Amino acid sequence: MTIDNFRKEIPSLAIVVPCYNESEAFSYCLSQLGECLSDLIKKKKIQPQSYILFVDDGSRDDTWTQIKAATQKCSFVRGVKLSRNRGHQIALMAGLSRADTDVTISIDADLQDDIRCIPIMVEKYSQGMDIVYGVRNDRSSDSLFKRMTANGFYWLMAKMGVQQVANHADFRLLSRRALQGLLAYKEQNLYIRGVVPLVGYPSDKVFYSRSSRIAGESKYPFRKMLALAMEGITSLTVAPLRLISVLGFLTCFLSLLGSIYVVVRKYFGEAIEGWASVEISIFFLGGVQLLCLGVIGEYIGKIYMEVKKRPKFLIQEEVRSSDSL
Ligand code: UDP
Ligand code: MG
Repeated sequence: MTIDNFRKEIPSLAIVVPCYNESEAFSYCLSQLGECLSDLIKKKKIQPQSYILFVDDGSRDDTWTQIKAATQKCSFVRGVKLSRNRGHQIALMAGLSRADTDVTISIDADLQDDIRCIPIMVEKYSQGMDIVYGVRNDRSSDSLFKRMTANGFYWLMAKMGVQQVANHADFRLLSRRALQGLLAYKEQNLYIRGVVPLVGYPSDKVFYSRSSRIAGESKYPFRKMLALAMEGITSLTVAPLRLISVLGFLTCFLSLLGSIYVVVRKYFGEAIEGWASVEISIFFLGGVQLLCLGVIGEYIGKIYMEVKKRPKFLIQEEVRSSDSL
């Protein structure tokens, strides 16, 4: 990297935090991120008008009340409330689309990601990076099940040709142009961490070890994790469709071998009772066909949702402190 890439101006920063039922974690999250922000302002690493933007993703507890109260107390807090729960990825996108700063950093409300990386990310931005990925190099705080499913998923995605930054979730810095690039991806099926690498621009990584949730419980039950994985696969690759063709071809080939075998046996006069094999092949082929139809259906479903061009989210309310207006 040449010295020309260095950015001399001090950037304004928005830390975007999606929150869903984060009542228990909110106050700690606010105090930690608030401290981090004012520290960076004091050190003149970011502009004084930098802020934290909390996105309430239709929480059923008092998260929004707490966000609103925080905007009254702290000048550096802003809040956006979505009209209903739309999920982490869309909540994050909603927050990012409202940010009007030079740089955004997205982070989860449970602070499982190490906020000490934030100054390093800002530093890397000043050194010319447009995207800085927070990468976990230690997931020992996650359950064995979560680690195994996550590793299996990254492996599967890589096999299907999707380039993702392994062990990177949604803790990342985006420059304004990288964010604009990301927002230009208008797809409904949103899997942000798969799309960001497609945006390009100079990027770097910051490594940290992921800690446990500060309070409350995971808002990502297995069902939501599976949905996110499906979203990731079907929005980024058509490899499963190709796999179906390969499977179809293989099945045909095997059936041909089977037929030759049957004819040869018949030629030598050996009567085959055959019922079992007929039944098995019917079931087998029926199963393969249904599976294939299911995969194709999944993609058609996605096309259906895309062509409707529905709004991804609706904003019900937006608040910011009166001092920051
Ligand atoms: N989240 C959200 N909407 C949802 C589920 C989660 O905005 O429907 C937020 C949640 O408040 C948190 C982040 O997404 O800030 C990640 O969720 P969580 O920490 O529960 O996921 P995990 O770390 O267990 O994968
Ligand atoms: Mg978490």
